[in-house]
Amino acid sequence: MVNEIEELRELLKTVGLRCTTARLSVMRELRNTSGPASHADLADTLVPQGFDKATIYRNLMDLTDCGLVSRSELGDHVWRFELRDPNSDSDIEHPHFVCVDCGSVVCLKEIEFPAATRRKWSSAGSVTEVLLKGHCTDCETAS
Ligand SMILES: [Zn+2]
Ligand SMILES: [Zn+2]
Repeated sequence: MVNEIEELRELLKTVGLRCTTARLSVMRELRNTSGPASHADLADTLVPQGFDKATIYRNLMDLTDCGLVSRSELGDHVWRFELRDPNSDSDIEHPHFVCVDCGSVVCLKEIEFPAATRRKWSSAGSVTEVLLKGHCTDCETAS
């Protein structure tokens, strides 16, 4: 646990953000969630710990601005946040799979796009999000 905090402190230091309890808690929470989390998801966990929603939001924005957190909009007008890989040089880190039935989101981290593919994309415009849609395993077995 101590190591984790140290690691997060280091990350904050590299981007020049002050290390506050709220900021660390937001980052830890993002790290502990398996997929991207919305502001509401984070508030559900962090408000009971004594942080207010505005503080959580402001910290998410700060972390997004300095590139530690990525923000995606997956077609439902909800911003979702997740920690970025600080070593990644790309805006698009990985695609997301969204279940059209229950709205659950899964990160597909093992899919990578070669530089040639990304270059091709740029002829279409600036791609900010890669989205796959379908029925998650839970929903599929339920139907
Ligand atoms: Zn589903
Ligand atoms: Zn993701």
